[in-house]
Amino acid sequence: MRVTFLGTGTSTGVPVIGCRCRVCTSKDPRNQRLRPSILLEWNDRGILVDSSSDFRQQALRHRIDRLDAVLYTHGHADHVMGLDDLRIYNFRQKADLPVYGSAGTLEDLRRTFWYAFTETQEGGGKPRLDLRAVADPFDLFGVRVDPVPLWHGDLEVFGYRIGSFAYCTDCNRIPPASMEALDSLDVLVLDALRPTPHPTHFSLPQTLALLAQLRPKVAYLIHMSHDIEHVETEATLPPGIHLAYDGLVLEIQA
Ligand SMILES: [Zn+2]
Ligand SMILES: [Zn+2]
Ligand SMILES: [Zn+2]
Repeated sequence: MRVTFLGTGTSTGVPVIGCRCRVCTSKDPRNQRLRPSILLEWNDRGILVDSSSDFRQQALRHRIDRLDAVLYTHGHADHVMGLDDLRIYNFRQKADLPVYGSAGTLEDLRRTFWYAFTETQEGGGKPRLDLRAVADPFDLFGVRVDPVPLWHGDLEVFGYRIGSFAYCTDCNRIPPASMEALDSLDVLVLDALRPTPHPTHFSLPQTLALLAQLRPKVAYLIHMSHDIEHVETEATLPPGIHLAYDGLVLEIQA
């Protein structure tokens, strides 16, 4: 399986509009973070996790010419606002696009993108999505996908485990059953918003403490704000823990 990090920034993106801080003005491309999303590829299929506010730019940058499914973690704007651009794949592939998420997340999508799920006049090219609510492990193109419930403040969101890989964005608490579900991973991708505490995201020290418990072989941190400077922060991390960056690609044995 191949994992491509399309965006590793928090909801504002980095640089933040109007900000002149040293990270927002940094020339290092690893300090420039689009909104959070990854592309997974296996068995010649492309699976998007979240359609971020920057999806169009991400799809052009990474030449995502084909998509076979979308997994949603939750319905917050930074993770869903690219949904309308998914219609290009309906046009190209002449088929509806299967979309997976919790019943609550799919309900949020129906409300936010009401026009895509109601009868409207002819001529408006709308996304055609086949919403599939999941709660238990399911098969996707010959591979088992496990939804992993996480807490993002008071909101339940999904992480996803696929074999020895798991993607857990937007969370600040992991219930005991999900801690077990995240055991024995080769690669764990995890929220680490900033050095200081936040009500709905893990801070960097909290993320490191959690990783010391979960002990994946390698961890990559995401959903980072402009309070995290790449090179400086990377140098402080324990072995096997890295900051992800936009454009990073991982090849993972299933
Ligand atoms: Zn987010
Ligand atoms: Zn800044
Ligand atoms: Zn969120």
